[in-house]
Amino acid sequence: MICLGIESTAHTFGIGIIDDSGKKYANERVLFSTKEGGLIPSKVADHHVEKFRDIINSALEKANLTLADINLISYSQSPGIGNCLRIGAAVARSLALLYNIPLIGVNHCIAHLEIGKLMSKAKDPVFLYASGANTQVIAYEGGKYRVFGETLDNGVGNFLDGFARYIGLGFPGGPKIYELSLKHKEKFEKLNKPVELIELPYVVKGMDVSFGGLSTNLKQKFDSKKDSFSKEALAFSLQETAFAMLVEVSERAMAHCNKSELLLGGGVACNIRLKEMCKIMAKERGAESYDLPIEVNIDNGLMIAWLGVLMHKAGGETKVEDADIKPYLRTDDVDVYW
Ligand code: AMP
Ligand code: MG
Repeated sequence: MICLGIESTAHTFGIGIIDDSGKKYANERVLFSTKEGGLIPSKVADHHVEKFRDIINSALEKANLTLADINLISYSQSPGIGNCLRIGAAVARSLALLYNIPLIGVNHCIAHLEIGKLMSKAKDPVFLYASGANTQVIAYEGGKYRVFGETLDNGVGNFLDGFARYIGLGFPGGPKIYELSLKHKEKFEKLNKPVELIELPYVVKGMDVSFGGLSTNLKQKFDSKKDSFSKEALAFSLQETAFAMLVEVSERAMAHCNKSELLLGGGVACNIRLKEMCKIMAKERGAESYDLPIEVNIDNGLMIAWLGVLMHKAGGETKVEDADIKPYLRTDDVDVYW
């Protein structure tokens, strides 16, 4: 069975093609980006409309397949930005009807987790899902992927992007913040001095985190005439603080669920420093921390295709007339029947 998966929850329009043995045929994507300013939903949707044909064609070309070879269409049905989700769902319904292919709608967050299990050695991990809009600590218990901890306000990526935008950097801001943090670290290492860390609000409540106070505090520090903090020092300290919060709640979830694997996913999980901090924590407790290739950490169609395969093999299908979008559906609302 060969499945074509369509990702369009937010900034990325992606098409992935995979078969039921987990063999990858293609994973093509296009990212909406800006030099300045953030995501405006209607503009992102226009971008997806403009690009979807090219991405489908280049994925099929890479795979050396035609739509006649596709046995299943899978699309990101939840959660995400309504304007963007609607484009992917419309493309999915059209392909399903035109080519008479079964259709399945899947949850984007769970897709990140399942592709992570496919591509790593993790069997039953605690999943730190650190992306733009979502930040959750998830683990499988009693038929569902339960959310043990999460952000009480912004996703960690949106928080990074928000601060980046504030200091005049474009979208996506996470990698730019990382570059600044490296400059700061290298400057102190060259001088053979301990790296300067600015004290910032650290907010962990049980297994939840919050970035609102940290965000406000960073902006105040950036604007402060009295203290002249450099962008580089703020970026470095921001990463150390925000990522330490994520590592702490992940460790607490691992202890609570008695699990010895951590799996990282989502766009922010591309961050080398976050991966390193998770590995240190895991090693200290005799556990393993798995991270994934960038190709599947960032939003992508391959993970949508793979979750479609898993669900369809277990009997799942979405009728075209039910193939709507569910922008607010949570990870723990989905029954894991596959
Ligand atoms: P996602 O929503 O999972 O596609 O992830 C997008 C988010 O990941 C955006 O907020 C990016 O700024 C962030 N991101 C991407 N690469 C990195 C990186 N190397 N470090 C930190 N954040 C990143
Ligand atoms: Mg994502």
